[in-house]
Amino acid sequence: MSTIFSKIIAKEIPADIVYEDDLVLAFRDIAPQAPVHILITPKKEIPTANDVEAADEAVLGRLFTTATQIARDEGIAKQGYRLIVNCNEDGGQEVFHLHMHILGGRSLGPMLAKK
Ligand code: AMP
Repeated sequence: MSTIFSKIIAKEIPADIVYEDDLVLAFRDIAPQAPVHILITPKKEIPTANDVEAADEAVLGRLFTTATQIARDEGIAKQGYRLIVNCNEDGGQEVFHLHMHILGGRSLGPMLAKK
């Protein structure tokens, strides 16, 4: 099922794009939760982490190498940052097109909110 991220990838709706190549697109989150909050998404429509296949290993690796480069470019690599991939309801996934969040620019606190 097509999502808003597919429309961003197709340039049908605007986004603040920070990086693009043959496999991935990275753009700033519309509702940032940290000074740096960027999403990296495969151009291929993979709905959730449950749907990745062995054939996706190249694009999944590209998510990480892109995150590393963006962290350097945004000046947060040394201080640190967090990479998040949410999956389905308990993971809090809202957009069902696989994506990695890069969050940084401040101390991000504990990994999970307390219950
Ligand atoms: P997730 O909960 O992991 O699915 O995260 C979805 C993220 O997409 C949220 O942080 C939203 O703020 C972000 N988002 C939704 N629509 C847009 C958009 N049009 N441009 C940029 N970010 C968006």
